[in-house]
Amino acid sequence: MFCDIAAGRVPADIVLADEEVVAFLDARPVFKGHVLVASRLHVVTLADLPAAKVGPFFVRVQRLSAAMPAALGCQGTFVALNNVVSQSVPHLHVHVVPRTRGDGLRGFFWPRQRYATPAEAAQYADLLRAVLAEQRPADQAS
Ligand SMILES: [Zn+2]
Repeated sequence: MFCDIAAGRVPADIVLADEEVVAFLDARPVFKGHVLVASRLHVVTLADLPAAKVGPFFVRVQRLSAAMPAALGCQGTFVALNNVVSQSVPHLHVHVVPRTRGDGLRGFFWPRQRYATPAEAAQYADLLRAVLAEQRPADQAS
């Protein structure tokens, strides 16, 4: 679907389009002006994006977040990326949502937990470190 927008086969309110991304209004915005920045390359998750494309992709995200207060009069932005879970369209995209204090955004009041013990926290850190140690360096990822 986002490939169709990128190719111009499906209309969208495009705000930025170049060789790396197509950025357009979310048709059902959290707040008006909510933009989706989709990679030009069809990949599903951030993990699938070639490492060399990560920088150029996020530079566009940065530009959108920088432009939004000036363009829309908001105070800040919320930048989010869902991978698989809560990802409604299986094509990599970042949400850039205009925010203003007191705007009443709901849905991001993440229920917080506590680790039962410092040892439990250390166990989770160990699990992550073990897999990170197995990864190829990012600049070699495909
Ligand atoms: Zn696609």
